[in-house]
Formats: sequence, structure tokens, C-alpha cells
Amino acid sequence: MHTTIHDDCVDGGEIVLKIVAGLSLKNLKPRVWAPDSPHYLPKLQAVMVSYAEFAQAPVWHEKALKQGLHRCLDIPERVSIYLDNGAFFFLGKDGGVPRQGYEEFVRKARPDWYPIPQDYIPTPKMTDIEQLECLYRTMEVNIAYQNDGYVPVVHISRHLGPYLQQFQSNKCLLAKSDVALGGIVPNLLRAPKAMAYAEVLDSVRRVRTEFGKQRLHVFGVGGTATLHLAALLRIDSVDSSGWRNRAARGIVQLPGRGDRTVVKMGSWRGREPDADEWDLLTSCQCPACQRFSIAGLIASGIDGFCNRATHNLATLLREAEEIAEHLIDGTYANWYVTHIENSIYKPLIDYLLEQTGQ
Ligand SMILES: [Zn+2]
Repeated sequence: MHTTIHDDCVDGGEIVLKIVAGLSLKNLKPRVWAPDSPHYLPKLQAVMVSYAEFAQAPVWHEKALKQGLHRCLDIPERVSIYLDNGAFFFLGKDGGVPRQGYEEFVRKARPDWYPIPQDYIPTPKMTDIEQLECLYRTMEVNIAYQNDGYVPVVHISRHLGPYLQQFQSNKCLLAKSDVALGGIVPNLLRAPKAMAYAEVLDSVRRVRTEFGKQRLHVFGVGGTATLHLAALLRIDSVDSSGWRNRAARGIVQLPGRGDRTVVKMGSWRGREPDADEWDLLTSCQCPACQRFSIAGLIASGIDGFCNRATHNLATLLREAEEIAEHLIDGTYANWYVTHIENSIYKPLIDYLLEQTGQ
């Protein structure tokens, strides 16, 4: 099913979905990119920061403009830095994302990957007219930034067809090496008037087919099971802040399974690991579990957070690698049946396998 293989997605001969780890300026720990950190994850290829965070933190903002993002965040050059335009944060603000400020930031802070300054997300609950309005406004920005390194944005919605037609009729946009895809999460979260699952997946497949040569990035995918959907849809990269958000709530991620709560925090009540799952955690090969074991995962304060976050990100990276291995050697269809324990996503994976004839 892999008709398009991008050179930079081939890792040791394997096609691995790139996990872009979302960061927060408020706390850059655990320093998963740093070889001298106990939480170092050598397989991490990319991180994402949000322009909205820099715009709210003048000291960071100035430092990034002066030193560039890699130096300012002390992240090695071999780890790519993706920039999120923060459109969601600026939504309620007058005039949205400040265009000139964003352009200057891109020019001076030099992220490796950066979308157009603003996109307008057509949420499921909008009327048809409102959704079309969002699509046309986003397309205006795509066209305004078509000649630079800005990555154009496409949204999944009920009106994908006319939007793709506009995109396909523009030679400059078609010549872009990257395209970002948004609007999937609200639809998969079953928002009111959300599209049916099959329709969402069909829409992503359609985008993949129409942009056969471009690298496709999907915004905001969090759980281990959704990585399977992204890999089956031949997405090139996804970003996620879930590894940190979950860690902050005392949650760890497990391969092929839902989230488990290992530390009770505040009013949050989640499912605890069963005996088998504690065993899985005991034998986990991630640097946090190897070094600090279960005691590290259930520790309080920043130490516990760093261990859980590292464990979560390592789990995502490993899951993406395993999916690629099984897809390549043709064992995926047999493997995922025993591997995935998630009632919501299993039928979706079945559907995709059926559609792609795996
Ligand atoms: Zn671990």
C-alpha cells in the first residue's frame, strides 16, 4: 500500500511515522532530546513549539529572535523544530495571529517546519456556509504565502471536495513539499454534527491520494491507537502534546492500549493498570522505567512527571516503529488483532484494512 516513499521518512530502510513531540515553554523538562539527560530518547526526530506561547512570553520571544530556536531551547540541530501558528489561541483575539510578528519569528527564530500564519478551523457544529467561509479564508492565506517555505493547511470537513479543487488548480501550492492537515480531531471526538468515522477516514485517504508527492503532517494526534490509523493512512508525521498532558494527570500510556492512571491527582479518576499491565510497565525498556522503575512512574512532583512523560513519548515512538515493522513484513493484519485493546479504534483499523486490501 506504500506507493509513495519519502526519503526522509525511511529510517534504516523502514517507513516510520514521525512523532513530533509537543513542548511547553513553561517547563522544558524532561529534556528528551539531550544526550546528557537521564530522559534522553535518541530516536526522537522532532519537537513542536507554539508561536502563541512565545507571543505571550517576551523574554523567550526575544531570545528566540536573537539566538534562533535551537540555541534558545538548547535542542540539537539533528532534532527538527516544528512551529505551530497558535491560530487556536489567537482565535478570540482582535485580528487573529499577528502576521508580521509571525513572519519575523519564522525568519529569525528559524523553525524547520512552519505553517501559514493563520488557518480557520471549520468545526463540525458550524453551518455549511460557516464551514465554507473558513475554508475560503484559509485558502486565501495559503495563496498569500504560496511562494515561501510556509506549509499550506487543509482541513477535513463536510466540504473537502471544493476545497481540494481550489488547491489542485494552483500550481504553486501543488509544488509545495509539505501539506498540513487539520480538523480531524474534533470529528473523531464525536462533536455534535461530527462526520461519521468512515467519512473522516475516507476524507484523509482522499487527501493522501491527491497529495501523493507531499509530506503530510496531521495536527494533534495523541493516543497509541490513533497512530495505527495515521500509519495505515500513510501520514508522514503527527504531533502530540498528549505525552506531557497525560503525565501531568498521573497517566501513563501503554502499547496498543488505553491510558492508565498510576498516580491519583486531584479529582481525576481513571482506570488503573491491572496485574498484566503492571508487569508490562515493570519490563518497560524506556530510559525512565529502566533507571527509576515503577517507583519513578508513581513518584510525585516534577520527578514523577518527567518519568511518566518520558515513558509516554518512548511508548509512542516504539509503537510507530512496531507498526512500520509489521506493515513492511506483511504481518500487520495478524499482529494488530492481538496487540490493540481499544474498542473505539479497532473497528476503524478493520475498516481501513478492508479498504486498503491489507
Ligand atoms: Zn517506560
